[in-house]
Amino acid sequence: MIVVMKQGATKEQIEHMIEQVERFGLKAHPIYGTERTVIAAIGEKRDEHRQSLESGPGVAEVVSILAPYKVASREVKPEPTVVRAGSLAVGNSHMGMIAGPCSIESEEQMLSTAHAVKAAGATALRGGAFKPRTSPYSFQGMKEDGLKILATAREETGLAVVTEVMAASDVPLVAKYADVLQIGARNMQNYRLLEAAGESGRAVLLKRGASATMDELLLAAEYILNAGNPNVMLCERGIRTFETHTRFSLTLASVPYLHDRTHLPVVVDPSHGTGHTNLVPRMAAAAIAAGADGLIVEVHPDPENALSDGYQSLNFEQFEEMMTLCHRVAEAVDKRIALNEA
Ligand code: PEP
Ligand code: MN
Repeated sequence: MIVVMKQGATKEQIEHMIEQVERFGLKAHPIYGTERTVIAAIGEKRDEHRQSLESGPGVAEVVSILAPYKVASREVKPEPTVVRAGSLAVGNSHMGMIAGPCSIESEEQMLSTAHAVKAAGATALRGGAFKPRTSPYSFQGMKEDGLKILATAREETGLAVVTEVMAASDVPLVAKYADVLQIGARNMQNYRLLEAAGESGRAVLLKRGASATMDELLLAAEYILNAGNPNVMLCERGIRTFETHTRFSLTLASVPYLHDRTHLPVVVDPSHGTGHTNLVPRMAAAAIAAGADGLIVEVHPDPENALSDGYQSLNFEQFEEMMTLCHRVAEAVDKRIALNEA
């Protein structure tokens, strides 16, 4: 249920209704909008106390939330959420551009990439220290040594850093260094990890599982929101289909679909979504045209010799060219790729 407060409801009335919701054994999620405040009342036995909540002071109405996800839904919060983390702002008219290598390989690789992508207009730096690899014999990432390199790159460039966390037990370590915790496609439904990320206080980039539906993605986001973390970005990174020409099938219709259903910003990953360097810039532009609030793109100083995902990575020059194209499309859809000003 959503308890919709009247316009001009007082702070005391709002606090009273939060207490009421909690007294009924429901979890209260107040959302303070520009027009009015709503309190999402989340729990199993929701509709039972509807009438008594309806008669509360300052309450305009109590409505049921139809979507299976609650706090993530537009019904609860019509205004788009803007997620800010250091130099990164994603949502509404703010477009984020997260760029960097698939894996952190060395300090030199990371610092040269950080400077190059920043000069080309990136607003955050990516790089994996814990890598989910299909084979246990593939490079698994530099782990904490990689996180330290990432922190150095942030110090040198001022770019916020985005990096994957694969296990709930690693969240404190990764959160110590990262501005944004990335939860990868393989872990989208690792519910303990989602809860731990929700409790971390860091913004989260939640990638869609390769076989996950939109509802499953939104319910995964709900775990993070329900743990008290409002700073969640959804990421479309393609799904597995019968098609083998591209690594995954990048379903861009999910961008406007998600925007209709959730206030959370939507980021697109055209690197994993296509698996081919030459397809990345045009799909990046297409994602922006579809309304994406941000992009995450793999960039490497020497893609041919990358330790992971070189075949889908851009070199510095290709990234710069991509940025020129992206700025033009962003302008056409009233978005701005820019550093966080707040
Ligand atoms: C990555 O970003 O390098 C990655 C492993 O992505 P995904 O989880 O989408 O496969
Ligand atoms: Mn990768």
